[in-house]
Amino acid sequence: MRVAILGAMPEEIEPILEALEEIHKVEYAKNSYYKGKYKGVEVVVAYSKIGCVFSTLTATLLIEHFKCDILLFSGVAGAISEDLQVGDLVVATKLCKHDLDLTAFGHPAGYVPEGNVFVYSNNDLVNLAKEVAKKKHIELKEGIIATGDQFVDSNELKEKIKTTFNADAIEMEGYPVAVVCDAFNVPFVILRAISDSANDNASVDFDEFLEQSAKQSAEFILAMVEELGKK
Ligand code: SAH
Repeated sequence: MRVAILGAMPEEIEPILEALEEIHKVEYAKNSYYKGKYKGVEVVVAYSKIGCVFSTLTATLLIEHFKCDILLFSGVAGAISEDLQVGDLVVATKLCKHDLDLTAFGHPAGYVPEGNVFVYSNNDLVNLAKEVAKKKHIELKEGIIATGDQFVDSNELKEKIKTTFNADAIEMEGYPVAVVCDAFNVPFVILRAISDSANDNASVDFDEFLEQSAKQSAEFILAMVEELGKK
């Protein structure tokens, strides 16, 4: 078993890199990949850079080039649901892309021909996340994550995404990673810790809470890797 751990930004993978043993950096396709071990489990860690294009590229390479057979995404997100506050952990049950828009042709929002509005997470990995949360007495929420190529910092857009997709959290990488994993039949989990509320104060909150929320998510992902090693 080789586990890919993917983030979007350096802050999201630094706490993971600090915990690795036998770390070895590989440069490939204009990005850095870190091979190593955590509690005996072989891992490859990378941050993609922000947004859908880079996360698609990196997820694809982690599977096709680095031959990972499970992918865990760790990062931060904005809250859409009133139930999510800064620091809360949310695991995606399904993901959509809120800015994919062919509604002019009568298609539903987020739909392109031969695609799906929602990509569903792997049940076994979501259940594993729930097991880890229970064991560690951490509250883990499940929710719908919407992805798009923009930082959402307005109540208006937030409301639109909520009513259109019933989304709970918003970020910029999850859906394409899910599409890639689904295409290659690689089980995945997208985990996010809330950094902001996607409102007009979002960029200020994001800067304040990024490091702390990214660390919370990273620590949870490491606990999942440890659990995977015992299976
Ligand atoms: N501060 C960075 C930009 C961060 S973009 C810079 O100056 O370069 C926000 C990142 O966090 C993305 O990777 C996205 O996945 C996630 N994210 C957190 N809150 C978000 C929000 N409100 N809207 C969209 N993405 C958000």
